[in-house]
Parts: sequence; C-alpha cells; structure tokens
Amino acid sequence: MGDLKGKTALVTGSSRGIGRAIAQRLAQDGALVAVHYGSNDTAAKETAESITDAGGRAFVIGAELGVPGDAEALFAAFDAELAACGAEPGLDILVNNAALNFPGRIDQVTPEEFDRTLAVNTKAPLFIAQHGLRRMRDGGRIINVSSAVTSTAHPSQIAYSIAKGGLDTLTLALAKELGDRGITVNTLAPGWVETDVTAVRRSTPEGRAALAAYSVFNRIGRPADIADAAAFLASDDSRWITGQRIDVTGGSML
Ligand code: NDP
Repeated sequence: MGDLKGKTALVTGSSRGIGRAIAQRLAQDGALVAVHYGSNDTAAKETAESITDAGGRAFVIGAELGVPGDAEALFAAFDAELAACGAEPGLDILVNNAALNFPGRIDQVTPEEFDRTLAVNTKAPLFIAQHGLRRMRDGGRIINVSSAVTSTAHPSQIAYSIAKGGLDTLTLALAKELGDRGITVNTLAPGWVETDVTAVRRSTPEGRAALAAYSVFNRIGRPADIADAAAFLASDDSRWITGQRIDVTGGSML
C-alpha cells in the first residue's frame, strides 16, 4: 500500500469505531493523524496512544459537530495542535467519518432529529471540506464515509438515509470541482460493522447471525475492513479514481 510519510490526515470521529481504525491505518502507513472526537476525549486519547505506541504520530482535537461554528472550531484546534507538533501547516487527507443516526420511519421522525442528522452528517462534512480545502495541498484526498443505505431503500432510517444521500452528492460535486488540483474525492459505503452502533443488535447469537447473513462472506464487517479501503483511497495508488461511491459491505448488496 502507499507510503503516506510526510502527509497529514484528519479523521473526524476517530475516537471510536471505524474512524479509529482509519486513523490507526493511515498512521501505520506513515501519516501524521489528527484524531478528532465530539465528547469522548478519553476514547480519542486511547486512539492516539495506540498510534504512538505502535511508532506512529497523532494528536487529538475535540469539536462538537452539527453546531454553529463547528468547522471553524475544528480547524482552529487542528492548526494549533499541528503547530504544537512542530509540523508544517497544511492538510493532505480529510476523512469525513463522524456521524449519528436517529432511526425512525416517516411517521416517527421529528423535525429536531431530522435537522440534527442533516447538521452532523451532511452540513458539517460540507463545511469541514470548505475549511479543509483552504489548507489542503494539491494532490490531496477527501474520503466521505457514507452508508449502504443510499443504494437501497431503508425506510426505518429515513433521516439518516437522506443525510447520507446528500453526502454522496457532495462527493460527486467536489470531485468535479477539485480535479484541477489533483485532489480526489470518493465515498466509502459500509454495511453492518462491529462498532458501538451495532452493539445492541450483536448482543445475542441470533442478532449476530442476522447481521452476518447480509454479507456473502457471512460475517459482520470489522472496522479494519473499512480502514483498509480508506488507506487505498488515501494512497497514490488510487490517483485515477475520483467521484466514486465504493461499496464496502462484503457483498451485502449483491
Ligand atoms: P461510532 O458511533 O462508533 O463513532 C462515531 C464517531 O463520530 C465518534 O468518534 C464520535 O465522537 C463522533 N461523533 C458523532 N457525533 C458527533 C458530533 N455531533 N460531533 C463530533 N463528533 C461526533 O460510529 P461508527 O464507527 O459505527 O460509524 C462511523 C461512520 O461509518 C459513520 O459515518 C457511520 O454513519 C458509518 N457507517 C457505520 C456503519 C456501522 O454498522 N457501524 C454502517 C454504515 C455506515 P465521540 O466518541 O466523541 O462521541
């Protein structure tokens, strides 16, 4: 896989779950990684420590997303911590991973939940990209973590599906916009993955089996399954791929 030495990456929501695995993998490939969290600073420090213990480089930044001024606060912390590391200013790899989900059907979703979902899952990535691009060097990478819910109907997660659909569209528009800077923009669309999000469903043998049965490999996705795909998209090996939505569901949609 590609060599990310000399690159700086920012992974939103890398205190836990898929984001943590992506941060660890990019650091393993040589990147200096900004580990972002919303409220769980303990988990973020654990991610960063796991990276430094393995010989990598990382720093932690906190910023609640989905509130006014979120992208500004995120990048104020990013700039300050980058300088504190003695690293060159700038960004090479942005991973928009942080998200939340209020499951609910059309007769259940509330305006407040809808607004919050769009604010965290769609609006925040757009403005993080806007601010990130002011720092991003030519040849950079933007990776948006979406979901399988945008390729098939998931009426029980209507707000989340709409928000992730917006994220997919953001990928398309940015890929066209940024080609002349050599920046690629792609979407990763995972299926069920072993994170806190699926903990309740995985808590019984029947629940585990039901989630595993979605994949042709008959197992639930692991965070590393998604992180390895992110590492490819972050690397020079993916330079001719942009504007794509890459299914990382273990064949769940076949
Ligand atoms: P987790 O719930 O395990 O982790 C979510 C991360 O996002 C945490 O780091 C959390 O920070 C951060 N975060 C959430 N809301 C906010 C907020 N308002 N402001 C700042 N940070 C926030 O999620 P997963 O690892 O499961 O999911 C990662 C991505 O993958 C998401 O985009 C999700 O939609 C997508 N996905 C996940 C699937 C799955 O089965 N797990 C399936 C398909 C897609 P903190 O720790 O501080 O709370």
